[in-house]
Amino acid sequence: MFRKLLYPNLYVGSVHHIDIDSLAVMGIRGLLFDLDNTVVPRDVDDFSAEIKDWFGRLEARGFKMCFVSNNGPRRLQNLTGALGLPFVCRAVKPRKKPFLKAMETIGTSQKETAVIGDQIFTDILGGNRLGLFTILVTPMPGKEYWATELINRRLERFIIKRLKRNPPAGCGEV
Ligand SMILES: [Mg+2]
Repeated sequence: MFRKLLYPNLYVGSVHHIDIDSLAVMGIRGLLFDLDNTVVPRDVDDFSAEIKDWFGRLEARGFKMCFVSNNGPRRLQNLTGALGLPFVCRAVKPRKKPFLKAMETIGTSQKETAVIGDQIFTDILGGNRLGLFTILVTPMPGKEYWATELINRRLERFIIKRLKRNPPAGCGEV
């Protein structure tokens, strides 16, 4: 139970380590992205050129994408507006509802959808509750919300230590 809900299917150093060809082969068509410290540092207001380029490549490969973030609409609009990608804001992850809403927006089923995020207790737990393919990335360096640092990160370090010692079958690491 613990493993099934809290362990990601894949654990990588950053989004750039995700092998998009493998995802396509697995039948993944939809990508639900966390925002802060996954694709942009929490205290930065624009995507890097590298990330923008990566989103462009994903789009060209035919992936449908949506952001699922606990942030309010203003930050999401400011960041994603230029990309023209949809988002679900004030998501209160790990609730299932925002992920379901995002899948409905991009038109993918649970089997076809991956969640990519930097937090076990929001992104990974939320995705696993729905049986989505979950990808944990090492958080980008940046300021954290104080409660995230105080509670979630400490528990995450404990789980990641166990994950590294005894990885579940199919849990790749870069
Ligand atoms: Mg995050």
